[in-house]
This record gives sequence, C-alpha cells and structure tokens, in this order.
Amino acid sequence: MAPAITGAGSVTYRGRLAPSPTGYLHLGHASTFWIAQQRARLQHGTLVLRNEDLDRARVRPEFVVAMLIDLAAFGLQWAEGPDRGGPFAPYTQSQRLDLYRNAFDQLLAAGHLYPCTCSRQDILQALTAPHDLGDEPVYPGTCRPESPVAAPRAAARVNWRFRVTDGEEVTFRDGHHGPQRFVAGTDFGDFVVWRHDDLPAYQLAVVVDDHAMQISEVVRGADLLRSTARQLLLYRALGLTPPDFFHCPLVTDAEGIRLAKRHDALSLRALLAQGRSATEMRSWLASSRLEALPHARLDARAAPSDNLNAICRKTAAPGTND
Ligand SMILES: [Zn+2]
Repeated sequence: MAPAITGAGSVTYRGRLAPSPTGYLHLGHASTFWIAQQRARLQHGTLVLRNEDLDRARVRPEFVVAMLIDLAAFGLQWAEGPDRGGPFAPYTQSQRLDLYRNAFDQLLAAGHLYPCTCSRQDILQALTAPHDLGDEPVYPGTCRPESPVAAPRAAARVNWRFRVTDGEEVTFRDGHHGPQRFVAGTDFGDFVVWRHDDLPAYQLAVVVDDHAMQISEVVRGADLLRSTARQLLLYRALGLTPPDFFHCPLVTDAEGIRLAKRHDALSLRALLAQGRSATEMRSWLASSRLEALPHARLDARAAPSDNLNAICRKTAAPGTND
C-alpha cells in the first residue's frame, strides 16, 4: 500500500525556511527561500524560520548569526523563529532532541528500525550497481535482519536504519514538478534515521518538525525530491499526515553543478559586501537572468518560462494520486 499522499489540506498556510548554519548562505538558498516567502504571502500564510543545526561537525555559531543577518538583508521576513520565538518554540533543532527521541522510540517499538554498523566505506564496497552521486547509495542490506523486529536500543554507537519495503511505490504530487514516483529498494534503500553520534538524521528531524510546527507546504530545492519519498514513509510509520510539497529548480554554477557553500563568490554575504542590493539580486532571480552573474544559472529542470515569479504562483494541478 502506498502511503497517504494527500496534503494536510490546512486552511491556514504555514511555510518554513530551514537553513543549516554550516557556511554562508548563497544565491541558491535565497532563490528557494524567496519562493517560499512569496508562496506564503500569496496564501496570506505564516512563514517560520527553523535553524537546522544538527551537523555538529560543521555548524558554527558565527554562521547562525550570519544566516539571520543575511536572510533579513535579502528581504526575507519570518514571523516565527529562533530570534523572535513563537507558539512552536524552540525553533533550533539542537534544542528539540526530546521530540526526535520520542519519534525514534515509536519507530523502534513498532519494528521499523534496525541497528547498522556499516561504515560508508563498507557500503560502497558492498554495492553491486553504480549509485547516483547526488544521493546516498541504496543500502545493500548488510545488517538488515531477516524479519522486522522491535530491536532493543543498543548502547553501542550505531546508525539506526528505517527498513523500507522493497518494491513499494511511493507516489506524490509535487506542487512544481507534478506527479512523482519512487520505488523503495531501487531508488532509495533503508535509510538512517538516527546517527551513530546519537543525533537524529535529517530525514527524521525534518518530519518531526514539519509536523510539530504545523507546516502545510514544504518549499525546498529539487535535490530533495527523493528524500520526500523517504519522508512520506516516515509520516506513515509515525501515523502523521504529510504536508504538501513544492520543490524549486536549483540554481547551479556555470558548469551546471548545484551551488554549495563552497561557492563563496555567490554567497549572499559576498554579494552584499560587493554592493549588490537585495533588489538587484531578486530581480536576477525573478527574471532567471542569472547570466548577470558570472557563475550561476538555473538548472535544466527549470523551463524557460519558469521565472521566479511564475514559480511562486504555481499551483498543483487538481487531482490525486492512487
Ligand atoms: Zn550495516
């Protein structure tokens, strides 16, 4: 059975910006967040800022400060967030660990999880097929038990994986990209929900938070389409109704590579310091005239007509999956 894919159908639109303070935010983040803000405004909704700071090795306090300053300088305004509080506080993931633990315990008790001691190297060596470099490899099942078990929580530092049903289709309608279909066991495998450093993995934290913060539409980059399939399985396993999803075209560099925090020249901080105004940057994005920037363009998944303003107004075609 496919997971429920219909959105929350909430009358009150709640969207979110969910940056990670692991570096300076760049034009790609700004593009996605701008779309998120416009969509919230068009629906007279509320925009939430959530600080996704669970990457202990790379998060730095100065990046948190820079993130808030640079996003505001770009013209983003959020009603709830770590800097201004709100009804769903705290808005910083490292302060929400109890919520994630509860969800983890629920999944564990229901037999969805098993401990995995494989290193990344182990997994790469066990792969029989090449994997998509843009996504984590399909887990070869080395540690997967014969049948689902309610495993005891081991003291050892292991990764905990969510067991998928091989061959199951996960479908949903994306607000921008339309109908989506992924096959568990082929397009993605058993995925980590709790890390060996005793922190929740991205997939679990984001599901718990989007539900707890009553987010009605998740707007994020198209690189996360496949993760949405994983997350829909978590929503179902936790007995939660998923929000709607809207995945934005990615801003890439001149070689077509998705912008990363290493593209310092395209960080908001650098562009603002060069005297580029937020209005100017927004107009580049709105017209998709990123050739105004020496190193950026929208990726091939964006049709020529997909300028930023059109994307903001896009509504999911009526109809349901399944
Ligand atoms: Zn393993």
